[in-house]
Amino acid sequence: MYYKNIVVGCGLAGVVIAERIASQLNEPVLILDRRSHIGGNIYDYKDSISKINVHKYGPHVFHTNNKLVWDYLSQFTSWHYFMYRVKAVIDGNEVNIPFNIDSIHKVFPKFISDRLEKKVIEHFGFNKKIPILELNESDDADLKFLAEFIYEKVFLGYTIKQWGVKPEDLDKSVSSRVPIYISRDGRYFQDKYQAIPSYGYTKMIENMLNNSLISVKLHTDFSEIQKLIKYERLFFTGPIDEFFNYEFGELPYRSLDLRFVNYDKEYFQSGPQINYPESYDFTRSVEYKYFLDERSESTIVSYEYSEAYQKGVNERYYPVPNARNHQLYNKYLEKAKQLKNIYFLGRLADYKYYNMDQVVERALTLFNTLDEINR
Ligand code: FAD
Ligand code: UDP
Repeated sequence: MYYKNIVVGCGLAGVVIAERIASQLNEPVLILDRRSHIGGNIYDYKDSISKINVHKYGPHVFHTNNKLVWDYLSQFTSWHYFMYRVKAVIDGNEVNIPFNIDSIHKVFPKFISDRLEKKVIEHFGFNKKIPILELNESDDADLKFLAEFIYEKVFLGYTIKQWGVKPEDLDKSVSSRVPIYISRDGRYFQDKYQAIPSYGYTKMIENMLNNSLISVKLHTDFSEIQKLIKYERLFFTGPIDEFFNYEFGELPYRSLDLRFVNYDKEYFQSGPQINYPESYDFTRSVEYKYFLDERSESTIVSYEYSEAYQKGVNERYYPVPNARNHQLYNKYLEKAKQLKNIYFLGRLADYKYYNMDQVVERALTLFNTLDEINR
């Protein structure tokens, strides 16, 4: 069988590149995915009991400062404007995350919190974001006290549950995703554009695939049909180590066991996401009706239990950023660079902790480098 363009993976990366090839080059594209649905990890669906839109692979909030990416996706969806807010339970109180000036006042008595507020503003400046591992390096006694408190109460337990290691044993970029924010801005993200597709992510993906030049084959593993197909270009968004038959060893991932529970009450918790750094075995609970402000008599909540990825047992959710894994990935990357007309992109193929906007940007940039575009 011959196909001009094959895309492996019907997640966001695969769908963006397929959409561009079909709509801009007017060429046919076949997308393969081994799962039973489109959308990869952004797939959502209506829960049969509560009728609420649920994110099958955990909470997804789109956020970006990149207008190109925002405008690109806006062709395929209208938006429900939504600024994410997250709380963590610390000493029994729900405290704003990122930990900010309001969080300081929530957890300490006034005479301490006033002093700490003054100190952090004098020391770092107002509206500054400080990664916890940087705050930990403070020499000042008050800042040291604050750093130890936040490290212990917000980061240590959560990170051990999520990654199986302490924050300092991962690439700094992981805990820096959620800095200490010297501000009263309580939002989880500060990007200019923050929203959720009005009719869900799956609908947005369906709209992107709505082109007669694009066909999708689900329940189809590339490795099983690889020898039967020929192509002019292959875009691979699956795991890069799997593509090369694990020649240099497996790239580690974290997986999640997401347990969904229906509650026969209108609301279960005070907001969309509550983190539990210190309590329980799950990292966070997420109540989905908040995302699209859906109304219903009952509600649905997911609890996230993190676990190591095991081939054939669970799904890959998070690449594990550290120096050792980066080195291993680079070996695969070197092999990938030697292949002609095979392109690797996306969270699994690039082995990068991408947010959705970074995946879209990656796919659009790759498309713009294809020879056909630059002729
Ligand atoms: P994927 O969605 O993983 O798609 C890859 C697809 O390839 C899969 O469908 C897979 O089945 C298929 N595949 C792989 N190998 C093969 C093969 N051999 N044959 C056939 N098919 C194959 N980003 C945000 O911006 N905001 C958020 O709030 C956010 N929350 C997140 C929460 C969680 C719990 C997780 C895990 C991620 C979150 N993300 C978020 C990141 C976001 O999910 C990713 O950036 C994005 O979905 C990655 O898209 P992708 O196409 O690269 O990969
Ligand atoms: N983190 C933490 N406590 C929190 C929130 C985040 O320790 O209350 C750390 C943890 O290591 C986590 C990382 O910051 O894995 C990134 O958090 P983010 O919310 O960005 O993770 P994601 O949404 O990608 O799961």
